[in-house]
Amino acid sequence: MQERIEQFKKMAEADPQNEMGHFSLGKAYFDDGQFDNAIASLTRTLELNPTYSKAYQLLGDAQAKAGNKDAALATLTKGFEVADERGDRMPRDAMAKTISELGGTPPASKHGGTAQATLAEGTDFNCSRCGRPSAKMAERPFKGALGELVWANVCQVCWREWIGVGTKVINEMGLQLADPRAQQIYDDHLKEFLQLPE
Ligand SMILES: [Zn+2]
Repeated sequence: MQERIEQFKKMAEADPQNEMGHFSLGKAYFDDGQFDNAIASLTRTLELNPTYSKAYQLLGDAQAKAGNKDAALATLTKGFEVADERGDRMPRDAMAKTISELGGTPPASKHGGTAQATLAEGTDFNCSRCGRPSAKMAERPFKGALGELVWANVCQVCWREWIGVGTKVINEMGLQLADPRAQQIYDDHLKEFLQLPE
């Protein structure tokens, strides 16, 4: 765990404008029970990208774990609205659940549970990263189950963006993709960046 934290710290420092480095570091701190550090990294993530649904979710959880219920409720309420607007239903519903568990009342959804039903003509899904109604890319971006998941959820623009970011991840973290552990780290970043459904 400490090794993971050090790796993500290096990445966040090497590319301080990249929200993903801060998010991954925040998640590693969270998993390690370092909630104050997690809060700092996730707050930075949201400064860089205020529409990162999963960062609100994790920040709210970290604030709750750190004993700051009021901050958690404020974060999760804001996060719910962002996720609802983007059509990120899984983080949205998870935040609603946590708000209730903390004794709050989740805001009403403006978009219901039916984001998929309002798809524009000629589109296949709302992209998991940018939320835009999108058509599938002409071909699967790569083989395997993860490639299939990307193909079913991610638009061409976001996929291209990931290729740039993914290259940085490989270089900054010195990943050798022949090593299964390095491949796992790369895949984890890909899933986070593209906000793929679990
Ligand atoms: Zn997209």
